[in-house]
Parts: sequence; C-alpha cells; structure tokens
Amino acid sequence: MSEVQAMSSTHPAGGPPSAAVRVEAVSKRYGDRLAVDGVSLEISQGEFFGLLGPNGAGKSTLVEIMEGLRRADTGSVALFGRSPWPRDTGLLPRIGVQTQSSAFFVRQTAHEHLRTVAALYGARPGSVDATLEAVGLTAQRKVRVENLSGGQRQRLAIASALVHGPELIFLDEPTAALDPQARRALWEVLRGLKAAGRTIVYTTHHLDEAEALCDRIAILVDGRIAVTDSPHRLVAAAQAPSRLLLPLGRLDRALAAGIDGVERVSEQGGSLVLETHAPGQVLSAVDRLVGLDGVQTRTPSLEDVYLDLTSSPTAAPDAANAAGSPAAETTTEP
Ligand code: ADP
Ligand code: MG
Repeated sequence: MSEVQAMSSTHPAGGPPSAAVRVEAVSKRYGDRLAVDGVSLEISQGEFFGLLGPNGAGKSTLVEIMEGLRRADTGSVALFGRSPWPRDTGLLPRIGVQTQSSAFFVRQTAHEHLRTVAALYGARPGSVDATLEAVGLTAQRKVRVENLSGGQRQRLAIASALVHGPELIFLDEPTAALDPQARRALWEVLRGLKAAGRTIVYTTHHLDEAEALCDRIAILVDGRIAVTDSPHRLVAAAQAPSRLLLPLGRLDRALAAGIDGVERVSEQGGSLVLETHAPGQVLSAVDRLVGLDGVQTRTPSLEDVYLDLTSSPTAAPDAANAAGSPAAETTTEP
C-alpha cells in the first residue's frame, strides 16, 4: 500500500517503544457468562498482535473493550497511555476499528461511504481513493453499499478502519468473508501497514494467517489467555510430532507401526499418517521399505498447538471442525 505514510515518531529517540495497548485484569460478564476473565496483556507499538480462539472464547468482547466500544466490569485498558472509556475524542483519530458487525451508510456508494467516514476523522484528501485501491474496491467505487457482495462489504469495512491513517488498527476476523485472493491481497496491505510502523491487533480463526502475519499471538480459551508468544516459539515449545503421509496401500499398517521412531499410525483422507519426533530416521526406514514416491512430510504447525489448547471438552466444538477435525480418523498405537 504505497499511500501509507511512515510513522514519524512512534517512540522517543533512543528509548524503548512504549505500549500501544495495555490491558490489566480486565473482566466482563454477560449474565452468568464470564466472557472475559481477568485478561492482562501488553502490545508494543509497531507490533502485529494476533488474538486467536474458538467461537465464543471472548475475542470480540475483549477487543471491543480495548476499542472503548464496551465497558469492562473490572480492570483497565490504556491505548498510548490513555483510557478509551469513557470516549476520548483525542484518541479516536489515532485508532482504526473494524468490528464483526460493521455499520454502513447503505444508500451511499462505496466511495461516498468512505468519504463520509474520512470526513468524520478529518482524513486528508486523496486517502479515500488510495484506500479503496489498497483494498481492491476501485472498480466498485460507484456501487451502492447495499449492492456490494459480502466480501466487498468486508473490504469496505476494512477500508473504513484504515482511511484516516490510524497508528493503531483493530481488525476483528477481517478475512472471514473474503475469497482466497482477497485474503492474500489483504495480507499484503497489512504487511505494508506493519512495515510503516503501525500497530495491528488482529483476531482470526485462520492459524495460517496468524503464522504468516503476527509477531505475537495470544490464544484465548473461555475468556482467559492460555498462552502468549511468537508463533515460532509456541510451535517449538509444544514439541508436536512431525507427520509423514503415505498413499494408502503403500505400506502395511502394522509394519508402519513397527518402524523405530513411529509413535502413532492413523488413516486420514486417503493417507496413512505416521507421527514421529524423528522424521529423518522414519523417512529413511520408509525409503528402504517402499521408497519415497508420493510421500509427504508435515512439520508441526501452530494448528497443532492451537488444537491442543482448545480441544478441551469446554472449548467450542466448531473450532475443531473449522481446523479440520480428526474425528473420522482411526488410530493404531505401536
Ligand atoms: P468470540 O469473538 O471469541 O467469538 P465473543 O466475545 O463474541 O467471542 O463472545 C464471548 C461470549 O460472550 C459468548 O459466550 C457470547 O455468546 C457471549 N456474548 C457476546 N456478546 C454478548 C452480549 N452482547 N450479550 C450477551 N452475551 C454475549
Ligand atoms: Mg468474535
């Protein structure tokens, strides 16, 4: 996104970057449902921070409290050291917000809508066209909002969060309604914003997105943060097994289970899956037995860590489904 201006001074020269977001012991209850349960976290300026978790984990409630759209029952939030609640008009131009249920001026065209939003925030002229271009809506600029597709509306919502060039951007499942191309295009826009020094708080179900974009992620389970770290360190610390996938019928299952280093054998989607912490050793054994033609290797990913943390009986079942439920697999323990 060429129009993004580099942040002039995100932090005092020489000093450490100050926190863009500081959340301290925040809780929020709806009736008898504790949606957010004593969450504390700090997001540095310039950081791309991901908030992950199953449906109902409390992600939207937590980000809306950060944004100043909801009031926490207890605890405190500071954005650049200032409380977003009650509404702080000095803070508004510095933050951009895309919520899961964005409001639109539906009778206006995409361009008019964005111009209205831009005017509210005192954005500079030219930012409207540039932002429409960045989210891939230039061709729809004259289309009324009510006639945009779901994915196009989603992109307009994202544009509305970006048009005034905020320092701190909140995006709540921004790629939910996007096709794969639009999703990748948005990644590029976000990488551009990150490179320009912006701070991004991003909720998603897509673990590949979190891995591709985020400096750090927090995984929220039942309103509580289960872990916070870089995707890389989370994957390394989990020590999940690698998986070797062989075309079914290639190698006898009992024989596979007997290979030194194989910890578990299962069948999944037309493949025999061998789990191991010694992939090199198992690969050479498979090579000796049946050759490596069509054999695929899968190294542990954030998805393994995520499923491990969120697949407790209390976690939402559809989260496991969304990530590819292994429910249908059959297993042989060696
Ligand atoms: P997520 O964004 O992770 O899916 P939410 O923050 O939307 O989670 O919801 C967390 C929990 O709070 C869920 O159980 C949800 O049903 C409940 N909840 C969310 N918003 C409201 C509300 N306005 N009133 C009552 N319950 C709510
Ligand atoms: Mg949500």
